[in-house]
Amino acid sequence: MIVIGGGLGGLLTAAIAAKSGHVILFERSSNLGGRFRNIPFKGYALTTGALHMVPHGSEGPLAQILAEVGAKCTIVNSSPWGTFLLDGKEHRFTNLRHQLPFLDKMRISKLITEMRFTKGPSGSVEDLIKDRFNETIYLEVVRCILGWAVSCHPSDVQAKDLYSIVRNIFNYGGPGVPIGGCSGVIRSLEDVLLGQNVSIVQKEVKKIVVDDGKAIGVETTDGDFYPDETIGSDVGIKKTVGMCRDGVLEAEYVRGIMNILESRGIKINIAVSEPLIHHSGVLFPIGAARVEGMNQVTNIDPSLAPQGKHLVMCHQTIMGHSIRKEIKKGITDIEEAFPKKDFEVLCAQSYFGMNPVNRAAHGLDVSQQFPIDGVYIVGDSAKGEGGIEVEGIALGVMKLRSLLDI
Ligand SMILES: Cc1cc2nc3c(=O)[nH]c(=O)nc-3n(C[C@H](O)[C@H](O)[C@H](O)COP(=O)(O)OP(=O)(O)OC[C@H]3O[C@@H](n4cnc5c(N)ncnc54)[C@H](O)[C@@H]3O)c2cc1C
Repeated sequence: MIVIGGGLGGLLTAAIAAKSGHVILFERSSNLGGRFRNIPFKGYALTTGALHMVPHGSEGPLAQILAEVGAKCTIVNSSPWGTFLLDGKEHRFTNLRHQLPFLDKMRISKLITEMRFTKGPSGSVEDLIKDRFNETIYLEVVRCILGWAVSCHPSDVQAKDLYSIVRNIFNYGGPGVPIGGCSGVIRSLEDVLLGQNVSIVQKEVKKIVVDDGKAIGVETTDGDFYPDETIGSDVGIKKTVGMCRDGVLEAEYVRGIMNILESRGIKINIAVSEPLIHHSGVLFPIGAARVEGMNQVTNIDPSLAPQGKHLVMCHQTIMGHSIRKEIKKGITDIEEAFPKKDFEVLCAQSYFGMNPVNRAAHGLDVSQQFPIDGVYIVGDSAKGEGGIEVEGIALGVMKLRSLLDI
């Protein structure tokens, strides 16, 4: 099998496929891991994308594949999963729920039961919450959780997709942080590949070569041809379409793919000497203008910051046109969440266009099966059902494994 792209989707695919045959993995850059890799910065482990979090921790789909392929990576579960910062006070979900009016408590219980056991109504999450609750605070809570989890506003996510996210949370549990951060996961997979039947080639793939409707190999930018009839692409659905010669795909299909929305976000990396967050889960600042969630990853792995320091990662969905203004609003949110606390903004990173949070926003994922025989899509434009971020990627790779029977 040929795998194009050494992001998490490509690495998981290669690790599974190598069990039943030779794999050539093409990665254009000198590092594996794509948007799930550490970047050293002033002694802190920042990342190319992710917030060092695995959405379903040590029991989720990613952890399951890692264990299956023999990748040695420890994921430590967060405890609690999250807390809510409301009017300057921090609350756990259960405490907050106790303080609610009786009718709202009943409505929440009913909604959670519905989410676990039914497919969910049509319409957006925003419609659903507005329909069930009178107070705007409930929409704010959902905005923070969804923004943190999938970088989308409740108006852009379908209620049925939220229901499958919640089902997965009940099935697999809450988040965790891998020891070594994102690169802890990537290094463990790299070790697996090095000990297996996998050739890692540092080249950029230019074309998927097709004959009579079937893939027969790939061509790299230096003009070399590599034959294989099974190709897994981890470079995103739009780019995969762009690798196919004109006329190979139906125009209507191509138009549909080009209209898929990506999810866009900003991450603000903060350094502190005194802890801002006192647990290893996510802090949701309810009512903040932009920031939806923050995690102090060094509460689980202190090696992600210099000794005596903490690294806090803050995430926000991009809502306005000016990235600069969006970042300013994010920093104001952090100042308001932690008045009188000193922090240093290490850097802010923005993700959109060719480098988004997800190549298909939650619920807009494509099938693993591409409309050319022998070509399959993995990665964050082909996430499995209800799969948040890298868990969706792992679920997508599990689907591919069933499709190919490997
Ligand atoms: C701000 C932000 C926060 C996030 N937080 C989290 C989080 O906390 N938890 C979580 O689970 N997820 C998180 N995510 C999402 C997660 O990082 C991505 O979904 C995931 O890393 C995508 O992996 P991928 O394999 O699909 O793609 P990528 O990581 O983009 O990998 C694609 C690879 O293909 C290579 N490539 C591209 N073109 C070619 C070519 N022509 N030839 C050869 N190689 C090529 C690229 O160099 C790259 O290495 C976050 C993302 C962002 C941006």
